Amino acid sequence: MATLLNEVEDLGSKLEFARAELLAEYRAAHDFPWIIGFSGGKDSTLVAQLVFEMLLDLPPSARTRPVHIVANDTLVEAPLIARHLDAMLERMRSVVPALRLPVTVVKTSPKIDQTFWVNLIGRGYPSPSRSFRWCTDRMKIQPTSHYIRSTIDETGQAILLLGVRRQESATRAMSVNRYSNGERLNPHNSLAGCLVFRPIVEFSTDEVWQVLLQRRPPWGGSHRQLVTLYRNAAGGECPLVLDKDDAPSCGTSSSRFGCWTCTVIVKDHSMEGFIGTGNEHLEPLMDFRDWLAEIRQDAEMRMARRRTGARSHLADGSLIPGPFTFEARRMILDRLIKVQAEVGEPLISESEIQQIHSIWADDATRLARAAEEPKV
Ligand code: SF4
Repeated sequence: MATLLNEVEDLGSKLEFARAELLAEYRAAHDFPWIIGFSGGKDSTLVAQLVFEMLLDLPPSARTRPVHIVANDTLVEAPLIARHLDAMLERMRSVVPALRLPVTVVKTSPKIDQTFWVNLIGRGYPSPSRSFRWCTDRMKIQPTSHYIRSTIDETGQAILLLGVRRQESATRAMSVNRYSNGERLNPHNSLAGCLVFRPIVEFSTDEVWQVLLQRRPPWGGSHRQLVTLYRNAAGGECPLVLDKDDAPSCGTSSSRFGCWTCTVIVKDHSMEGFIGTGNEHLEPLMDFRDWLAEIRQDAEMRMARRRTGARSHLADGSLIPGPFTFEARRMILDRLIKVQAEVGEPLISESEIQQIHSIWADDATRLARAAEEPKV
């Protein structure tokens, strides 16, 4: 590379540099597909926009490498964010054939037996906390990693384009430094065959907004809804998480767009922001989340034994509470269904409810057997 990206100072040059890097990589002497990790937030929107623009500048015959836009839906996204993401994906999908772009738009989600509700209400996992954050891997890392791995299985390698930026946070800067080798592409630290490309790594938040506000998205519409979402939520997004190193930004106490059920954070500032800016109908969601955080502390709501029937103890001999009791799980499900009716938003699916009932039946059988076994 003739110029190092971090030596480029002004926005015009940064943008030009990012565009040149994208084009050079797209024209490289291999045909590994691109996968854009898309969260619907400003950073990945900018990456998607730059890629669309680059493809449109090429004659259709030169648009030879496939580009996958991959978004993940945890199935417990805040309703306004989920709607925004779906609308953007649908817009992109709808313009691809007419624009003759080699783009596939995909939405991944957790497997039915690994959703938030199936684990919390079905298996009785306590609401996630800093010390037991069971959700990120199951709901975010696994679904997207699975998609990337199956693409790599078919093609041998894939280039993952991420909208990560050094200035997002100190944690992000450390992670960028750790995994950057000074080259355009860096091996992913856990996905073999995956090379990471961060075209906007040196952009500041203001610069991302400046670029987005100066241009309309190539898939039509405007970025107005994105701006409104950020303004209302007064925060940043929970980025696409592909690795445990990304996980500190998922479920942090700063304002972010994440799961509406997140009990890892103390307060959900983005939901508060949405409610405070005209979405009062979402208030029961915030109360429900607070209640979920409270009840994990209530010993009466937790079983003494784990789902296997075993007891767990800390080093000092004190008992580690097990999953939610069957009564607590039933109570959570009943209350969730009431909240769903109250807010008029889909919060849990019929297939999740069926899965929950089948886990309850299995758990009851397993625990009954464990109780019958002779104690040694
Ligand atoms: S936002 Fe919260 S609930 Fe959702 S995956 Fe991250 S830590 Fe878990």
